[in-house]
Amino acid sequence: MLDVLGPDRWLVLTGAGVSTDSGIPDYRGPGSLPRTPMTFQQLISSPEAHRHYWARAHVGWQRMRQAAPNTTHHLLAQADRDGRLVGLITQNIDGLHEQAGHREVVDLHGRIDRVICLDCRRVVPRASVQRRLTALNPGWTDRDVALAPDGDVLMDDTDDFVVAPCEACGGRLKPDVVFFGENVPKPMVEHCYDLVESARGLLVLGSSLHVMSGLRFVRRAARLGRPVVIVNRGSTRGDDLATVKIDAGCAETLTAWFGVPAAIDAL
Ligand SMILES: [Zn+2]
Repeated sequence: MLDVLGPDRWLVLTGAGVSTDSGIPDYRGPGSLPRTPMTFQQLISSPEAHRHYWARAHVGWQRMRQAAPNTTHHLLAQADRDGRLVGLITQNIDGLHEQAGHREVVDLHGRIDRVICLDCRRVVPRASVQRRLTALNPGWTDRDVALAPDGDVLMDDTDDFVVAPCEACGGRLKPDVVFFGENVPKPMVEHCYDLVESARGLLVLGSSLHVMSGLRFVRRAARLGRPVVIVNRGSTRGDDLATVKIDAGCAETLTAWFGVPAAIDAL
């Protein structure tokens, strides 16, 4: 019997499946839109690509920032407050764990609510950039479009959009998230490996483990002999390493483990 989220201090790794209950779609989950996100190489390939990215991201942000934490975020934050976790690593960039009150979160792929300058590396809040973009592009966010997981939207005609440059150096801005084609910073990866080592086991929630950035922690846990429990709808790349695989939703599974479903939504 594995006492997942018991007093033995587990490490949790969360993916897109945790945020679908908050209305943020999953790239790879059932029913997801067949689309490929812009890579870092594409983003920096031309001023047109950069403008196209920001035109869509500007609209997507208006939707994404309205998302609120769901039962899974609240239950994990409760487990964190109760001292039952050794840490939480998320592949999500929506900041919903922090919004739910989770204290220590490793944002493996960065945060969509921060913006970094590609030239001088200055980091500023997304909200301030959005205010500038709104002033430069009145009426742009009134369009009716579909939201994608990375705060992007599906939109074709973006030629008229005006991008905001870095206020410090005039350089190119980018949301402070790890794009496809970029790597997670090495010190952060090392910190995650330390967490795996000090954890009783690894609980994966709502991730297909499709990208190596998350899968490597499952591999490390398995190599160390730590139990790995995966809760995800559909198969994952870590299934053959899992001690237990549960093909179900995260919220319903965590609620069953906590046994207090009525109290949670009121948190
Ligand atoms: Zn700059």
